[in-house]
Amino acid sequence: YSYALQRLPGVVRAGKPQPVVPDVVDNTTGQQWLPFNRGKALTDLKRYISVLVKYFPGRPVVKNLLQSVEAWLLGLEDTEVSYSSLLSVLENTAEVPNAVLPEGVRWVACQGSQPHFRGYPCSVWTLFHVLTVQAMNTRGAGPQEVLQAMRGYVRSFFGCRECASHFENMAAESMDSVRTLSAAALWLWSRHNRVNNRLAGALSEDPLFPKIQWPPPELCPSCHGVKLSGEHTWKQERVLAFLKEHFSSDRILLDYLE
Ligand code: FAD
Repeated sequence: YSYALQRLPGVVRAGKPQPVVPDVVDNTTGQQWLPFNRGKALTDLKRYISVLVKYFPGRPVVKNLLQSVEAWLLGLEDTEVSYSSLLSVLENTAEVPNAVLPEGVRWVACQGSQPHFRGYPCSVWTLFHVLTVQAMNTRGAGPQEVLQAMRGYVRSFFGCRECASHFENMAAESMDSVRTLSAAALWLWSRHNRVNNRLAGALSEDPLFPKIQWPPPELCPSCHGVKLSGEHTWKQERVLAFLKEHFSSDRILLDYLE
């Protein structure tokens, strides 16, 4: 979490949402970046933490900590909070029993071959997939709950603003029309594949983890259909079954030790 906080502005505000319009332009590339929308950040934070409390299948101490953050956020009367007060709740300075975040950062499944590869953005995708699958398995409140919480998190807090712009464009295009929990898991899967396709061969690609259309046949042979007019096809019901299994809470090692 400290990684994420380093990229945040000084306060988190609630207030009238402002339109999300890219207004930062890189003069060399012409690339538009999504600005941080401070007016909406506190609402987005509350929504994201509530979704984590409901669906994150982590260790009990981490879940307890998330619950105490949620209780603190829900009890706030101010429309803005300082990062230092948020940090004290995350560090549990009030000493809520059995509630703590792990010390430091140690990537396991998202370990890159070099320190600048994978890590945090890989873990965000993985967490998002786990959340959509958990919402499906526990018959959560509805498809928009998790999707909009992710969208808000990326919009307000994801450090890579270019990535946030791209994600917001995909969300604006079709996220609102997702109607079921299964469709939400598939929406995220297919949008992640679009990003993989765009980034294949880019400098940010870890050579040991090439960007591919996922899951590859070695991981899920039955997910791949016959080619139609030379085009690859997916068997979406098989992909859904695979996502359910691959991102299920049973596969998370709560007592992982190197
Ligand atoms: P990741 O793409 O991070 O994937 C993590 C793991 O998820 C993979 O190892 C695999 O096990 C699994 N996986 C892969 N594809 C799928 C899929 N389709 N469905 C389910 N699981 C899958 N970087 C940019 O340079 N430009 C961008 O615009 C950009 N946008 C991003 C938007 C978001 C919301 C996020 C979270 C990240 C974005 N990134 C972007 C970062 C980029 O997508 C990768 O996360 C980063 O390059 C690390 O890649 P990775 O090889 O660890 O695999």
